Amino acid sequence: MILRAKWVLPVSAPPIENGAVTVEGDSIVAVGPATGEGRDLGEVVLAPGLINAHCHFDYSHLQGKVPFHGSFADWLMLLVELKKQQTEADYLAGIQAGIEQALAAGTTTVVNIASVPNLIPQLPATPLKIIWCEELIDLFREEPAEKLVEAALQRPGIGGLSPHAPYTASPELYRLAARHARGRHWVFTTHLAESEEEDDMFRRGTGHMYDSFRRAGRDMADCKRVGPVQLLRECEVLTPECLVAHANCLTELDMMLLQATGTPVAHCPQTHRFFRRGMPLIERLQHAGVNVCLGSDSLASGESLSMFAQMQELSREFPRWSAEQILPLATTNAAKALQRAGKLGEISVGAVADLIAVPLAGNFDPYEAVVFAEQPVSFMMINGNVVRE
Ligand SMILES: [Zn+2]
Repeated sequence: MILRAKWVLPVSAPPIENGAVTVEGDSIVAVGPATGEGRDLGEVVLAPGLINAHCHFDYSHLQGKVPFHGSFADWLMLLVELKKQQTEADYLAGIQAGIEQALAAGTTTVVNIASVPNLIPQLPATPLKIIWCEELIDLFREEPAEKLVEAALQRPGIGGLSPHAPYTASPELYRLAARHARGRHWVFTTHLAESEEEDDMFRRGTGHMYDSFRRAGRDMADCKRVGPVQLLRECEVLTPECLVAHANCLTELDMMLLQATGTPVAHCPQTHRFFRRGMPLIERLQHAGVNVCLGSDSLASGESLSMFAQMQELSREFPRWSAEQILPLATTNAAKALQRAGKLGEISVGAVADLIAVPLAGNFDPYEAVVFAEQPVSFMMINGNVVRE
């Protein structure tokens, strides 16, 4: 199949005006100027499908229901309480609504943290490529780490592992999950250095998170020593295969550790604003040589699962950044973070045919047309199959 468009935007190469992309099977076999052959998609930008590097579809029905009053620990506790009241039907409806939102906004691959992984087989088939990463928590060491990891490895639909965060997952759980994920080429991802409270807890043994967890009975022996980044460094899990979400509270040494270990970071712009975190560190991380990509996080702390919306929020955070600088964070950078560079997030020969068409809508710059898109995509192909037109 040959697809023609006013602009073809490979991201990994300069835009092609009046371009064409040839697809055979699930792959792209040619990219170049249009010759008049094939199907004309019209006044659109044909771009690679977007990648959401950090998402929780599970909380899509909790939008606006978990208010933030200044303490991240309190917000988390509130979410945990609210989760107990949800039925399977609530979760299933929320996950499906979330998937629909992602597809409409041009997302073709999602790294999704699964906190109710037993429901995955009950979901209807979707063309969206969801990498379900089972959330792993052993806060009070109720179950041995081996058992938790073993259960996740056996679970249908799971393709990644996600120890939740250093304050809810033990070093043993991190080590074991990382080893098994690496052995299977699965995605390995975690929340890291998200809040000041987490930083205070580990580095200084102070603050509201420290007090709350201590009162709840958590063993606090790992606190009052080093920050969370160094803690994971000691577990030897910081590698190019370890995708860390947030990384908001970092020292210069932490940034050096992320760079030296090749650890990629997923920034979630709307969640960042929701928790009033101030200026993100991602510009400094990029300068330090860290690979930064984008995620939507969940609707419990964000407004939208659209990666267009996340890119637009990023543009508000960094008004000096051009659309050309922003788009790689939702395409090529994310593909690299998932060890899928050259395969996902770009239009090139040999890449998977995950394509979206975005109306030009009066834009002269194809990058701006994509980053600032406000309508659903007019065409979408995943794995070479047309799934929306
Ligand atoms: Zn998250």
